[in-house]
Amino acid sequence: MNASPPGMANWRHWLFVKVHTDKGIYGVGECWGWPRVVETAIHDLKPLVTGEDPCHVERLWQRMFAAVMGHGMTGVVGSGAMTGIEMALWDIKGKALDTPVWNLLGGKMRDRVRLYGHAFDMERARQLVARGFTGLKLFGWKDCVPRVEALRDAFGPDIDLMVDAGGGPWQTPSDAIALGKRLEPFSLLFYEDPVSSLDIEAVSRVSDAVNIPIAMGESHPGVYSLAPLIERGIIDVAQPDTGRFGGLLQMKKLAAIAEAHSVMMAPHDGSLGPVAEMAAVHMVATIPNFLIQEHLACDVPQRYEVMSGQPVIEEGHIVVPDSPGLGVDIDEEVIARHPPKGHDMPVDEDASEYDFQYVAAHGKRARWLEGSGKEWR
Ligand SMILES: [Mg+2]
Repeated sequence: MNASPPGMANWRHWLFVKVHTDKGIYGVGECWGWPRVVETAIHDLKPLVTGEDPCHVERLWQRMFAAVMGHGMTGVVGSGAMTGIEMALWDIKGKALDTPVWNLLGGKMRDRVRLYGHAFDMERARQLVARGFTGLKLFGWKDCVPRVEALRDAFGPDIDLMVDAGGGPWQTPSDAIALGKRLEPFSLLFYEDPVSSLDIEAVSRVSDAVNIPIAMGESHPGVYSLAPLIERGIIDVAQPDTGRFGGLLQMKKLAAIAEAHSVMMAPHDGSLGPVAEMAAVHMVATIPNFLIQEHLACDVPQRYEVMSGQPVIEEGHIVVPDSPGLGVDIDEEVIARHPPKGHDMPVDEDASEYDFQYVAAHGKRARWLEGSGKEWR
């Protein structure tokens, strides 16, 4: 089932999964990515878990993984589908044992999980800080330096700032390094996706040249894909997406690899719904090398209406829930009131847009690098 976040592009929908057992217990999960395609993949995987004991999470995951291999691996589509099913299995197991998922994953390192929000503009940044948020992230290269400067001037050193460069293929290592050098004096918490995550050598060049922690991982499926960036010392912060990385156990394994290489974990929450967000809270509650978690503080009004078991968010932190399983359930009646608005990829009305992306990265370089950031003052 889908719930469309109207604040997002029409082709981005939430996709929830429900796994039922013959004992009357059911589990909920959520997957993100390409919703209609992932939904199809879930239906294809269903026979592999039907009739099986849901407690054997690893075994069932490996069974699905082996089946996906038969399709030549399927990136975040396959891992997204497995993510939703695996998440629901943890929920079932927690409910069956009357214990929260964090207890099954090793127990708590912390009672609250630190969040960061998106500073879309200065007003939004002020609202987040007033609510107690101590982490703010900016997106995009345009006017990046003056925007960071304005936030640092406004809030001082006690607010952590992050920059997400978006990882477009038009971003060259040279440009990413130039921008990174300009950002160094602002002591960012991290510099995310400075170049395309598909080009590991380009990321490596930026990482070597820029003295800011490099963050990456939102597009990676599973431990195999992200481990090389960690093991080679290219990234400092791993950002697996809780809705499509492959499942909570995959994230836990990645956290262990990261721990052994002095890398921190900061799960991605680009447009995840509330179930995956809560699943992330359970996972990061159990790991020592947790840094901060992304939080969509203002996407759609129905964000938490579609579920019961409301999150407690206080002083920029989300409280780790103590109820069994994931501690949340979906409300299918509310979800039905927010049907998907469409699945088509957005048509670019301006045919030159893609040319523009490339040109903008290389033309008028001084303008985008220097910027004015007037509206941020
Ligand atoms: Mg990002």
